[in-house]
Parts: sequence; C-alpha cells; structure tokens
Amino acid sequence: MTQILIAEDEDRIAAFVAKGLQAHGMTTSVVASGREAFDQVMSGGVDLLLLDLGLSDGDGGEVLRQMRAEGSTVPVIILTARSSVTDTVAGLENGADDYMSKPFRFEELLARIRLRLRGAAAPAASESTLAQGRLSLDLLTRRIAVDGAEVELSAREFALAEAFMRHPDHVLSREQLLSQVWGYDFDPGSNVVDVYVRYLRRKIGSEFISTVRGMGYRLVGTPAVTEPD
Ligand code: CA
Repeated sequence: MTQILIAEDEDRIAAFVAKGLQAHGMTTSVVASGREAFDQVMSGGVDLLLLDLGLSDGDGGEVLRQMRAEGSTVPVIILTARSSVTDTVAGLENGADDYMSKPFRFEELLARIRLRLRGAAAPAASESTLAQGRLSLDLLTRRIAVDGAEVELSAREFALAEAFMRHPDHVLSREQLLSQVWGYDFDPGSNVVDVYVRYLRRKIGSEFISTVRGMGYRLVGTPAVTEPD
C-alpha cells in the first residue's frame, strides 16, 4: 500500500489531509517536526512526503535539502502558506517535485500526489501541461503562457487560472471558484473572486475571461478577434 508521510505541525490540516488520503486507499503517518520527517524518510518505506515549510522545529526546506544531500529520491510536495514566487522557486530548487500553497483543494492535492507516484521522476509533458486555445499552463513551473509568451502569476492567480483551464468553456460560479481556489478557508460573502479575476485579466488579457452576468465567469481559450476595419 502507498505510504504517504505528512510533515505538518497544524493538527487541523494534517487530519484533513490524512483522512482524505486514507479514504483513497493510502496509508498515512503524520509528524510535526522536520527531524522526525527526515528520520522517517531516511529509514525507508515512505512513497511520498508532503512537506510543510513552517514546521515545529524550523524550516521544512532544510529537511528537503538534507534529504536530497543524503541521496533520497522520495517525491516531495511542499505544502505551505508561503505563496510568493520566490518561495516556490526556492522550494523547487531545493529538490521539491511540486508545490501547493494553502489553503488548497483536496482533489487537486490528490491529483498531484497520484501524478508524482506514477511518474516517480519526470511526468510526460502532456501530464504537466494544460493547453486551451492560445493559453497553456505548466503545472510544474507554475507558469502560464499566452501565445507562447510566459506570464508570471502569483500562486493564487495561478490556482485561479488552473481552475479555469481544467473546465474550459464551462461557466464557473463565484462559489465554485471560491471552493476550488480558496478551499476550506473562505468567506462566502467575499468579493475575492472578482478581485482576482481582475488581476488575472490584467496579466493574460481581459478577452480570455468573459463575465456571464448573474452566473460567474468563463474561460475562452480562443477569443474572437475584433479588429477595427
Ligand atoms: Ca506549519
């Protein structure tokens, strides 16, 4: 059976993830410190490590560096509240296989875990890229490209773009986007979705996300070209 080690010092999150993974037939163990995480990984039997960066005894990134320095190839997905691009890049450079910022959606975490377990090393390009018309999203580098030109997104903007790319041409309501992108940690009355749609439009071009009045938003991978004649 697949053994997932969860290194997380927040009980609520550790329990949420453990319960979900167990429901999908995996076995889990939870540790709160980097020391224990390192020891368990190095003693073998761990198929994948979910690693929080802010652990009870310090920086999870240090655990990762040590593991890789000792030659461990166990796949690592970083889970963290730190969501800046700098942290993402640092995590990946330290040898993480993937990166998710909190709060996250369980199904997305599960999909990423399965991808890592299957791929071991590098997944095929087709599995790590979502393409839709003129847009393409790289799930590993966490970048979006418009007509092949890369655009840098914040972690939350990226998650929003990913939610749209996974449901091309569907109208997604604010509630759906809130639960998919902001996970368990949202206020249903908030206008955060509208704010982030505005950010995303500003970065990739407003024509790619259309507003469906009274319903929500829809991604248009190939917007109609309206040129003045
Ligand atoms: Ca933590």
